[in-house]
Amino acid sequence: MELLKKKILEEGIALDKDILKVDSFLNHQVDVKFIMDISMEFYNYFKTKKIDKIVTIESSGIAPAFATAYRFGVPLVILKKQHSSILNQDLYETKVHSFTKNTDYMLTASKKFLNEGENVLFIDDFLANGEAVLGANRLFKEAKCNLSGVGIVIEKSFQPGREKLESIGIDIYSLARISKLDKGVIEFK
Ligand code: 5GP
Repeated sequence: MELLKKKILEEGIALDKDILKVDSFLNHQVDVKFIMDISMEFYNYFKTKKIDKIVTIESSGIAPAFATAYRFGVPLVILKKQHSSILNQDLYETKVHSFTKNTDYMLTASKKFLNEGENVLFIDDFLANGEAVLGANRLFKEAKCNLSGVGIVIEKSFQPGREKLESIGIDIYSLARISKLDKGVIEFK
């Protein structure tokens, strides 16, 4: 998506060779009109699939996922991050390693909101090592939901997320693919 690349070059801040900050439009301050445009890209790519729910992880995936759910006219389910296991029989839970914080968290979903046979589209702001998507997919499997696809706003293609997800047959659509980051350097694939 050319407009997204332009926005990343104008407003993104590459902190080092791993982390890109885009908090002026995506995950701190939100450019609502721009996020609505992003959601249209996801809608156009995935519209031929049957999508019953959009799913994301709190908190940085919520803006693009909310807008995409609006386009599809389906509910948005926000998976929750907990500091520790809360072993509750009404919840699905799985441990996930956080790329940005270098810690583990428990990813949880109420059993009420993921139902057997539902087709879910997972939307997130970034794809790095793929751990967030793989964790969400473990919850979908427990709930017997089908993962119809994954929509990512910014993929860091020099990290192994895409390979891991493609190796298990997941359809990933990324709106911008970054091939290289470094202090002050942002290059696209
Ligand atoms: P993964 O699980 O693919 O390793 O990492 C994905 C998650 O880590 C995303 O949900 C996102 O919140 C966060 N993340 C990964 N890389 C970046 C980055 O370069 N910048 C920001 N702001 N978040 C990132």
